[in-house]
Amino acid sequence: MPRVRSVTTFAVRYPEPNDNDNLRHLLFARVEADDGTVGWGEAITMFPDVTRATAQLVEGMAELVVGTDPLENVATWRRIKKATWWPGHRGGVAAFALSAIDIALWDLKGKLLGQPLIALLGGACRERLPAVASTHVFHPSLEHEAERHGRYVREQGYRGVKIGMGKKGETHLGYELARDVEFVRLLREAVGPDAWIMMDRGQALTWDVSEAIRRTQAFEEHGLHWIEEPLEPEDVAGHRRLRQHVTTLIAGGEREWDADGFARLIATGTIDVIGCDVGRAEGITGALKVIELVERADIWFNSHAWSSAVNTAASIALSAFTPRCLLQELKPDENPMQHELVEEPIAQRDGWIEVPRRPGLGVEVRESVLERYRLT
Ligand SMILES: [Mg+2]
Repeated sequence: MPRVRSVTTFAVRYPEPNDNDNLRHLLFARVEADDGTVGWGEAITMFPDVTRATAQLVEGMAELVVGTDPLENVATWRRIKKATWWPGHRGGVAAFALSAIDIALWDLKGKLLGQPLIALLGGACRERLPAVASTHVFHPSLEHEAERHGRYVREQGYRGVKIGMGKKGETHLGYELARDVEFVRLLREAVGPDAWIMMDRGQALTWDVSEAIRRTQAFEEHGLHWIEEPLEPEDVAGHRRLRQHVTTLIAGGEREWDADGFARLIATGTIDVIGCDVGRAEGITGALKVIELVERADIWFNSHAWSSAVNTAASIALSAFTPRCLLQELKPDENPMQHELVEEPIAQRDGWIEVPRRPGLGVEVRESVLERYRLT
């Protein structure tokens, strides 16, 4: 079996049409074996300084990866994890770096063995997952935004929508209760009676417990599948109070870094849907530990996949691997890191998304696209 020959990084900056063309940043890791086979990984670093710091960490971690057997990738993950005792205790940027390397090593392993990631994990519970359009609102008109999201369901076949509130742009959702409720009413009309609606508070907003309860109860009148991060993650008492007053699933967890953090959150008993980003929570190896915790707690796993096709491909395999997953989120509008980056973009059809079956992650990255968006 070939050994890992090199580990290199690509930092990118790109406009995201699903976020009103705001600039976002990612860090890619590229691992290459002696025989020229290449594996790709990604960290959802979001900001330019974090992206640069992650690149430096990946380049530093390379000495623990070069020369290793790609089939022994979990042993490599453990070595890196142990080495990050100082910069990565309980998470932080080191977890981004470990995520990018780990995803790349699973991709490389699959390609060398000629097996898709889902087979390496042990197999899928389901061959396809319900697809949900995950977007931000930015137009000032509520009617316009409700109708735009209605079209994702009615015309493209998505089985529901997840809407980020408190985002940049001019919609200003999350501030005035009556206006938010009116939006959800319009949205329900636009998507029809059966589509899922999920509302995500977003970190820019601050709600107190009473506000979170009143909003969630009012949204429930129009059929709400889950409310995401309604309060700050540390507010366990607030989550408990909210839980006593609503029947909607409560989602959270996307800010956690590792299995220990997720275990503490799950132990509070306040979260029904655990958001976990494979490009943040120590890669595929880390996410598998989170899935184990989710399954033991009989709650739900949700891939926080809102970056590149590399992340999405890994996320779909993880979502299909566990029976404790409700759906798969996709960015509905064409965008550089999903539709330009890979030869064959990941797509939903009639509201379903298939598990990738090509070797490794199942996507072919175009380096020319990484060059085009390179962060300098
Ligand atoms: Mg979220």
